[in-house]
Amino acid sequence: MQRRQAEPYKIKVVEPIAVTTPQHRRTASVEAGFNTFLLRSQDVYIDLLTDSGTSAMSDNQWAGMMLGDEAYAGSRNFYALQEAVQDIYGYPHVIPTHQGRGAEHIISQILIRQGDYVPGNMYFTTTRAHQERAGGTFVDVVIPEAHDPRSGHPFKGNVDLGKLRELVDRVGADRIPYLSLAVTVNMAGGQPVSLENMRQVSAFCRERGLRIICDATRCAENAYFIKEREPGQADRSCRDILKEMLSYTDGCTMSGKKDPLVNIGGFLATREFDVYQKATQLVVLFEGMPSYGGLAGRDMEAMARGIREMVDDDYLAWRIGQVRYLGGQLQEAGVPIVEPVGGHAVYLDARSFLPHVEQARYPAQALAAALYLDSGVRAMERGNVSAGRRPDGTEYFPRLEMVRLTIPRRVYTDRHMDVVADSVVALYRRRERIQGLTMVYEPPALRFFTARFEPIGGMLAEG
Ligand SMILES: *Cc1c(COP(=O)(O)O)cnc(C)c1O
Repeated sequence: MQRRQAEPYKIKVVEPIAVTTPQHRRTASVEAGFNTFLLRSQDVYIDLLTDSGTSAMSDNQWAGMMLGDEAYAGSRNFYALQEAVQDIYGYPHVIPTHQGRGAEHIISQILIRQGDYVPGNMYFTTTRAHQERAGGTFVDVVIPEAHDPRSGHPFKGNVDLGKLRELVDRVGADRIPYLSLAVTVNMAGGQPVSLENMRQVSAFCRERGLRIICDATRCAENAYFIKEREPGQADRSCRDILKEMLSYTDGCTMSGKKDPLVNIGGFLATREFDVYQKATQLVVLFEGMPSYGGLAGRDMEAMARGIREMVDDDYLAWRIGQVRYLGGQLQEAGVPIVEPVGGHAVYLDARSFLPHVEQARYPAQALAAALYLDSGVRAMERGNVSAGRRPDGTEYFPRLEMVRLTIPRRVYTDRHMDVVADSVVALYRRRERIQGLTMVYEPPALRFFTARFEPIGGMLAEG
């Protein structure tokens, strides 16, 4: 018999959440224009919009908050953070930033010149935006399996060495300031990179004189997948694997709002003293002194403690296990999802879920809206609405049309996952009753945040 595991923590403080009625959700949906971004959090029962900044801190982190040293310069919490980063990530030089994109801004401004190319294992929104703003052009070098929701490849985030070599040969290493290496790959569904791939990529980059800057936002979750899936790694600790992973890189940008279990914060870290020195010059302009970078002392302390907690093997096994627990229930019921289930979210494949809704009727948006109406669960659309329009005004109609169920860390129990699964399965059983949406308000840029919709036929599979 398979023995069941439970959460490796007990609950000391609770935050009540609203158990809403269908009538309440209908009113809230209309007010929000059937866009989950526009719902008020108080109208949401289980909030799976994002795992960013939504973690629950431990008693140890909260205790650290009371030890905030709010000195303008040289706060002791900065030194605690520096030590945690040196211990766990292995980079000697650290600069705190207000969140991940603050670090992306600084590293892009330091390393990228107009006309450069930045290869990466799939783009991320803010990362690419900063690379482009600094004059660079992003080039996708992830393996093709990453773009295929049905591929069961165990390391779908791997770099395609052939694609990388082709780019270096074509434009020259001096036009490539660095390889942007994400672990795990968010936009592929939280898919990991293998140690073997990192070793090969690092050997190639060293030979060609290329730097590797890691987007280490979900690196601890990546380390867990390596422990679980890569031959010969099962007996190592995630902490040890993580250190080896990052030893193949020259520096990282980091969002504390994901793996490090805090609600705000980030940092830039590097092995290169001259990069560090340039970063200290920029951080004072955009974030704050190099010893606080836009964070309060207490926030640095919470992140320092969260960094040590995030590499705990039992925590990671439970964390990844909870995401998989939700995904497994959906798979058993035949609901189409992106496979294998990644580190931080389960992605519903809305095109297969709603084959009768054409993409111009926003199937993923309609499914996210129907899910909220059914059970008060909030998800995020990642499909045609998020992709936006080309400069000529036509829509992109991206290949992946998905609804993301993103699991905050240490916030919900497996019982909450059961409620989510029941709701998704119930919708799947009456999927032909979900019609699409028409967009009735569309802002010119980043439309997914504020666009408004109306259901076709006035109904969205209620009851
Ligand atoms: C969230 C995220 C970022 C940006 O971090 P912020 O803290 O939101 O600025 C960068 N890369 C990845 C992969 C992310 O998920």
